[in-house]
Amino acid sequence: MAKCINCGKSNANYQHSSGGYVCSNCVGKFFTCPNCGMLYNNDDYEDGDQGNGFCKNCSDD
Ligand SMILES: [Zn+2]
Ligand SMILES: [Zn+2]
Repeated sequence: MAKCINCGKSNANYQHSSGGYVCSNCVGKFFTCPNCGMLYNNDDYEDGDQGNGFCKNCSDD
């Protein structure tokens, strides 16, 4: 079972853009793209929230 990259506990099911995983307790600390479900750091303006609520991969450019 994957370990949470934020708190280190196991049972982390949410995929983060870094390739790691985040647990349900910590998912609220990250930006979650509603289209692809990927988690990004809240300050990741390059690949994360493009200001429209979606990550870069899911935003039209
Ligand atoms: Zn956690
Ligand atoms: Zn996305």
